[in-house]
Amino acid sequence: MSRKIVAAGNWKMNKDPFEAISFLKEMGPLVKGKDEDVDVIFCVPFIDILPAIDSVKGTNIKIGAQNMYFEENGAYTGEVSPGMLKSAGVTHVIIGHSERREYFSESDITVNKKVKKAIEHKLTPIICCGETLEQREQGITIDFIRQQIKIAFLEVSKDDAKDTIIAYEPIWAIGTGKTATTEQAEEVCGAIRKTIEELYDTDTAQAIRILYGGSCNEKNAKELFAQEDIDGGLVGGASLKKEFAQIVEAGQ
Ligand code: PEP
Repeated sequence: MSRKIVAAGNWKMNKDPFEAISFLKEMGPLVKGKDEDVDVIFCVPFIDILPAIDSVKGTNIKIGAQNMYFEENGAYTGEVSPGMLKSAGVTHVIIGHSERREYFSESDITVNKKVKKAIEHKLTPIICCGETLEQREQGITIDFIRQQIKIAFLEVSKDDAKDTIIAYEPIWAIGTGKTATTEQAEEVCGAIRKTIEELYDTDTAQAIRILYGGSCNEKNAKELFAQEDIDGGLVGGASLKKEFAQIVEAGQ
């Protein structure tokens, strides 16, 4: 089955609204046409969302968020709800990035709550999973990732699961310049697809898109995206630069 490649940028806490506007206005022409073959998404800081959406009008670039809360509204100072994101025009939301798990105490349980809420609001969750270097060295990578996936998908229906996106991001490769080898990345992405097959069925496993993230750049993207179970990339540092257009091209 051929799945449409995803090139998703995660800006993290970078680019103010003015920088976001000028970058995206420059990016539009650079990915023109390519954004029909590849799903191009920039997950931007909350404050950049509205100007970003305005800046990509007339292109196929989509704007995503990097997080959301799992309640509809109320006394949750500092949080942003899925309904707010949806009404602003957001299409995708990263859930359970390792930085959120590490610095903001997110757990597999909160990830599952957020995944279900995102789906309820017709936002596509980009569900992150990934092992530490210690876990890799202990030889428990696959077991650990399988557990993260099983919890993330608790009470998610087969039809909804199909339309989600999973991002495998080994923590030791994020922002370190140390990319997993294509074999390492493909091994885990294949194991994730197998887990989805066990949870649901072959159709669901074949439809779901699984991305690799961790120092993905314009030099290594083509080889990574050519792997059978890798359907694109979640890209941090390299999504802040014009070279991101070459990553999109690698997905064509
Ligand atoms: C990320 O933040 O999701 C990521 C993969 O970062 P980087 O590409 O900078 O390693």
